[in-house]
Amino acid sequence: MSNVFENAVKLVRETSQILEVERRYPGKQLVERFIVPDKVIMFRATLQKDDGTMDCFLCYRVQHCDMLGPYKGGIRFHPQVDLDEVKALSLWMTLKTALVEIPFGGAKGGISVDPASLTVSELERLVRKYTHRLVNDISPNIDIPAPDMGTSSREMAWIYDEYRKHREVARAVVTGKPVEIGGSLGRKEATGRGVVCAMMEAVKDLHLTDFTVSVQGFGNVGSHAALDCEARGIKVVAIGDVTGNLYSANGINISDLVKFRERTGGIKGFPGAEAVADVLTCKCDVLLPCAIENAIRVDNAERIQAKLIVEGANGPTTPEADAILKRKGVLVVPDILANAGGVIVSYFEWVQNREGFYWEEEEVNQRLFQRLQKAYRRVREFAEEKKVTPRQAAYCLALDKVFRATVARGVQ
Ligand code: NAD
Repeated sequence: MSNVFENAVKLVRETSQILEVERRYPGKQLVERFIVPDKVIMFRATLQKDDGTMDCFLCYRVQHCDMLGPYKGGIRFHPQVDLDEVKALSLWMTLKTALVEIPFGGAKGGISVDPASLTVSELERLVRKYTHRLVNDISPNIDIPAPDMGTSSREMAWIYDEYRKHREVARAVVTGKPVEIGGSLGRKEATGRGVVCAMMEAVKDLHLTDFTVSVQGFGNVGSHAALDCEARGIKVVAIGDVTGNLYSANGINISDLVKFRERTGGIKGFPGAEAVADVLTCKCDVLLPCAIENAIRVDNAERIQAKLIVEGANGPTTPEADAILKRKGVLVVPDILANAGGVIVSYFEWVQNREGFYWEEEEVNQRLFQRLQKAYRRVREFAEEKKVTPRQAAYCLALDKVFRATVARGVQ
């Protein structure tokens, strides 16, 4: 399996050469300083299960870089979470926040656990233990967690409450909370909506008018992206999740599929579409990978039929697959741009919490689209000017901003 951290570092080195970092800032070691995270926290959490037995879980929080503001990044619950993955995700957060120009750095956290294997009370105890261990490392001005794969507003509420017990009432300590306790309207939908916003910009560039969409992943990001497509009258012909893959040339009724998933826990067996082997290589114009890392690889990239890929997930395309897609002329809107909607609205939530003044959802969405469209245009223009891919352009713009801030802050 492709190592996501090594891949991320390789791309940072490559794009730093496009930026001529060594010539512009000789002897400052900016690339080496960027690659090594500021702080890595790793610990074991012991959990007493409801039946009295004990279990242990590996927990992580990586604070990658705070040159542009407090660390910011989600918390992932997944059995395959490991240190390299969390390091890669935290580095991508630094790039993402820099690219969309929000005053945060990058971080990420995670627990190596299958959340479906625990009861709700076990999960709550685990989240509280995790938070308790991190009370000195998180705060509205230091590091602000948020949801990621396997976590949602429910877990963020527990983090808020646990922090409150040990420190202070500070709504801005975590984002992606339920609206009742200071969550922003539109946060839950923001990443998926942002993916579709980026897709709409890219289809304009490609002059695609009547197009079909395939979505891998039907969790927070995938389901809200699909719902947004449905609301815009765009046909979603394929959807896949961990339980199975669906295809219907006439388009899948997404609202019905959401209800079905809520009832059954997955999309498998949905009567409104046929079961197929794969949604990445099926017939469609636009592909939205919104599930896992390394989904698009050498073994399937050649067979991808889409003309446009908008990366909802973090790191869904391996570097080798990226090269194949480039040769095939597929436009890839990179993850650090395409899925930045979540962190943008997390920033809005943090601002609203600190102001104690809350915005209407329409205002949230408008500001979200404005920021994403601007970032999209900057990336496209840079890519055209320098004759590089949108991914290289996005990395260049983000790294340039971080490096300028590093130099401006002086030599420590
Ligand atoms: P989620 O846990 O809500 O959903 C994940 C989805 O992926 C589920 O439908 C699951 O069944 C599916 N999936 C998992 N493994 C799969 C596999 N092997 N094949 C097919 N489908 C599979 O997670 P999410 O929050 O939607 O996050 C998805 C991706 O988006 C992750 O890469 C995450 O880092 C990224 N992301 C999330 C946010 C956010 O706000 N939640 C923000 C930015 C990026």
